[in-house]
Parts: sequence; structure tokens; C-alpha cells
Amino acid sequence: MSQNERTYIMVKPDGVQRGLVGEIIARFEKRGFKLIALKLVHATPEHLEKHYADLAGKGFFAGLIKYMASGPVVGMVWQGLDAVKTGRAMLGATNPLASAVGTIRGDYALAVGRNICHGSDTVENAEKEIALWFPEGVTQYTNVAEPWIYE
Ligand code: UDP
Ligand code: MG
Repeated sequence: MSQNERTYIMVKPDGVQRGLVGEIIARFEKRGFKLIALKLVHATPEHLEKHYADLAGKGFFAGLIKYMASGPVVGMVWQGLDAVKTGRAMLGATNPLASAVGTIRGDYALAVGRNICHGSDTVENAEKEIALWFPEGVTQYTNVAEPWIYE
């Protein structure tokens, strides 16, 4: 856990279609995280199979890839203290019905297969996902608000 921890957050195709990109970005901005990469991309099934490689044996895998390839997604990298764990907390539980109100999924989704956003689950997976989605690298800069966010 450090101020430089990074996580990969993605608005899924349903989140893009439902006009929730700005809302999701706003929550991470307002929390104090620093945006260091952002792109809109219509990913191929092959790319998404790499992203979700750990789930390849699951019964929902084919449907998940089809859903994720059905339209563009917005991929982003957010940096800050405990970014992975806090990012997951902001997303809510995988099944939106189990997500607390106040989380992104708990406020905007109902079905596990249409849960509008992705967030890395470990620091190791975050780094793998950042490399997969942003092979060109991220953009480092100084955020002037930092002394007001961290002690
Ligand atoms: N998923 C699904 N059915 C399930 C479990 C997962 O459709 O029973 C989808 C859901 O969109 C989820 C994604 O597969 O976000 C990846 O699953 P994971 O267990 O990694 O959940 P997450 O990390 O996204 O909370
Ligand atoms: Mg996951």
C-alpha cells in the first residue's frame, strides 16, 4: 500500500451505453485518486480473453467475453493510496444485488452479467492489466492537490 499504488478501472459496454462514464470518473476524481491513463476502445474477443484469462474455465466465460466485446469500454488507470482495495470497495460486490448502496454497482446495476464496471482485485493483477490495456504506458505528472489529500 502506497501513494503510488495503481489500479485498472474499466467502464464496461453497458456502463458506456447507459451514460455512466462521467459518473464513474467523477467518483474516482472526487475521492482523491489521480488519473494517469484513459482510453475508449472496442476490444476484440482475443484481447478480452487475455484480460479474463483467470476465468477461462467458468460457465459464464463465453457470455462474459461476448458482453465485453459488444461495444466500446473506457479503460483507465487511477493512482493513489491503497488504490486497488479502495477501488474495489468503490465498485461494490461482483453481484450488484449484494453491493452496498453508495457503491457504483450498488447504485447503478442489478445483474451480475451487466455490472457496468471492472476493477483490479490485486496489485499484481492491476500491473498485468495496465500492461495489457496500456502497452504504450501511462502519463506521470504532479497533481497540485496532493498536499491536500495526503498528510
Ligand atoms: N460474472 C458473471 N457471472 C458470474 C460471475 C461473474 O457474469 O457468476 C461476470 C461479471 O461481469 C464479473 C466478471 O464476470 O464482473 C468477472 O468476474 P469476477 O469474479 O472477476 O468479478 P469482479 O472482479 O468483476 O467483481
Ligand atoms: Mg475480477
